[in-house]
Amino acid sequence: MQAIFDLVRDVPDFPRPGIMFKDITPLLADPAAFAECIDALCAPWREQGIGAVCGIESRGFIFGAAMAQALSAGFVPLRKAGKLPPPVVGMDYGLEYGLDRLEIGTNALAPGERVIIVDDVLATGGTLDAARRLVERLGAEVVGASVAIELPGLNGRARWGGTAPLHALASY
Ligand code: IMP
Repeated sequence: MQAIFDLVRDVPDFPRPGIMFKDITPLLADPAAFAECIDALCAPWREQGIGAVCGIESRGFIFGAAMAQALSAGFVPLRKAGKLPPPVVGMDYGLEYGLDRLEIGTNALAPGERVIIVDDVLATGGTLDAARRLVERLGAEVVGASVAIELPGLNGRARWGGTAPLHALASY
């Protein structure tokens, strides 16, 4: 996807030394490029009876909400700990240093509902796989996942424990 290579900016040593941050804000600011990305992100999931798009806080909300509209599906936020009102269900997961936690509203998804999970970047894969396990804990069906950018050097795809497809628009 050329728009991503043209418009996503590499920011070295942000937010910490040694991290090469992918800044998607120039892409979001370009209406034609952003629309092209949403269209391409939705392509694998059209006509698949997707009931909900689960977006991961925070940049997954931007792509996920636009995809939900395009797919005529609901949007469900997966948020960091303590941000959603109760009742919630949570999933802890390991980061390179320490732990993090994603939460979802207990009643946000119906059992058996067909769901896709969306984030901006797949790095080590811990966040996306925790999202998958959380959605499955609610009894919904994870049909697949989409990210705008995959960083294959970090091998995040190997951590995706689902058998469902994981799509990336661009790989660096
Ligand atoms: P992972 O769990 O290591 O795969 O990290 C993925 C999460 O970290 C996603 O929610 C991303 O939003 C965020 N992330 C990791 N690297 C980057 C980056 O280079 N740019 C923007 N977000 C990033």
